[in-house]
Amino acid sequence: MMTKSESLFQEAVKYIPGGVNSPVRAFGSVGLTPRFIERARGSHMYDVDGREYLDFVGSWGPMILGHDHPAVRESVIKACEDGLSFGAATEREVEMAELICSLVPSIDMVRMVNSGTEAVMSAVRAARGYTGRDKIVKFMGCYHGHSDAMLVKAGSGVMTAGVPDSAGVPAGCTADTLSAVYNDLDSVQSLFDLCGDQIAAVIVEPVGANMGVVPPAEGFLQGLRDICTRYGSLLIFDEVITGFRLGLDGAQGYFGVQADLTTFGKIIGAGMPVGAYGGKREIMETVAPVGKVYQAGTLSGNPVAMAAGLAQLRLLRDDPLFYEKLNRKGDSFYGEIERIAEESGKPVRVNHVGSLGCVFFTEVPVVNYATAKTADTQKYAAYFASMLKQGIYLAPAQFEAMFLSAAHSEEELAYALECIKKSI
Ligand SMILES: *Cc1c(COP(=O)(O)O)cnc(C)c1O
Repeated sequence: MMTKSESLFQEAVKYIPGGVNSPVRAFGSVGLTPRFIERARGSHMYDVDGREYLDFVGSWGPMILGHDHPAVRESVIKACEDGLSFGAATEREVEMAELICSLVPSIDMVRMVNSGTEAVMSAVRAARGYTGRDKIVKFMGCYHGHSDAMLVKAGSGVMTAGVPDSAGVPAGCTADTLSAVYNDLDSVQSLFDLCGDQIAAVIVEPVGANMGVVPPAEGFLQGLRDICTRYGSLLIFDEVITGFRLGLDGAQGYFGVQADLTTFGKIIGAGMPVGAYGGKREIMETVAPVGKVYQAGTLSGNPVAMAAGLAQLRLLRDDPLFYEKLNRKGDSFYGEIERIAEESGKPVRVNHVGSLGCVFFTEVPVVNYATAKTADTQKYAAYFASMLKQGIYLAPAQFEAMFLSAAHSEEELAYALECIKKSI
């Protein structure tokens, strides 16, 4: 007998490429077919066949408070009652902008968009417009959304698909995208030696979280800051994952390094399609209608989306111990996984920063794209299948993060550890 998920997938592939609206949702790289999710609450998701999962994906980050938080839900319902979209200025957008600017010291002004992809695309355009330069430095294995210029040696789904670059991206679109090696300042310096005066910006995930999880080495982010300052290039932190996850001031606060421009997504939308980019006033004032960098959006700053994001961000802001507790939970959970891995004697490496973590099936310390690629994706597939059978929902690919939320209880994490022990 086919499960309902299986029969839905059979229908889905007829009408949607690969049956999914984003490649990372497909279970292709773990050799399975996706589970169709019906609803979720707290740390749990329930599929259309009534199976329950302890969820470590959290919609790829947004669900830092757990699914269906009552305050977020109520805020959304209230916004819906007033109308879904007006295409005109609203009070909530001002509240959202004020809140972001008050929480992130490097941000004086912010523009709301509809996804992380848009946030990055727009921030890169602003950096180019502001500096009058064309070249961008990105790091192999970092994912910055699917805009043309960023699909060079990208992480996430691009990495598991084994396509280094996407078809359909004209060579001209990536001609000004230079690739450097994560955690290797020399590789960045060599690019600046070649053409530093043409580099508009360096864009980086301050914690690599789309090639599995790769923490920045001591001094790496500060080194980027120094190089950018020296050459008059902008430093863009892509905090689509790390923003409001490591702390209220993101990775910049966590590591004490300020960016010129910052991109957000995921958590600021609390599950609604939201992105944002912001930074220093003089840079952001190059954006239309003040400046000459054009960027727009019919649904940008959508009232329902703002209601969701605002409710979540306010809860995070108003709990002074939130990040301390969540990061400590991460330290202890991933620390335990590391201990289990060591005791097993198997070639497994565990990387983590706060609530973000990754189990790599390799014996090589994972510090960049090349070392991440040494991970055995077959072993990950077996691990994934075994965990799924025990009711644990992980990212269906090796090169993705695990996301802990405030809703994961000690008991649930202890159960997950038992499952991991049996599955690695
Ligand atoms: C998810 C992600 C993006 C893209 O965001 P979308 O909302 O999927 O377009 C960009 N950068 C990073 C670091 C991400 O993790």
